Amino acid sequence: MNRLVIAIDGPAGAGKSTVARMVARELGLTFLDTGAMYRSIALQVLEQSIDPEAIETVSDLAHGSAIFLSPLDSMGNQKVCVGGRDVTQEIRTPEVSQMTSRISAIPEVRSAMVELQRSISRQSEHGVVLEGRDIGTVVFPQAEVKIFLT
Ligand code: C5P
Repeated sequence: MNRLVIAIDGPAGAGKSTVARMVARELGLTFLDTGAMYRSIALQVLEQSIDPEAIETVSDLAHGSAIFLSPLDSMGNQKVCVGGRDVTQEIRTPEVSQMTSRISAIPEVRSAMVELQRSISRQSEHGVVLEGRDIGTVVFPQAEVKIFLT
């Protein structure tokens, strides 16, 4: 089956997320908030008092995490769950943002998230819209549509 991959990259604050959500809804594609995935790992690192320098522990956590992203609702919102728990709000705190930038620098964490992003894409019915720093270059270099939004 032909699935469409639309990769949106660009600087922070350009409106990538808004555009990605709109495009996903308009075209009936799966929206994949990759930032929310990294945030979910960071939340667990904080909650479990894991040392972010403990690369192996953080990477095991990333590889074993059951992250679930819901379909967009009519308002364009996506629910984020980890191990069945709704963490949509919790992952947006400043503490989580700060921890996210630390743990997203760990290559093993990135490879776990990339694996998950590709697997969600394979399971999607019509394709995916993703946004994030490495989407068009690392995760889906063969994406049919690549946008650099400024
Ligand atoms: O997009 P959002 O602000 O939710 O992303 C949170 C953080 O997750 C980013 O600042 C970045 O550190 C990390 N991230 C990443 N790669 C992505 C998406 C997000 O490293 N594809």
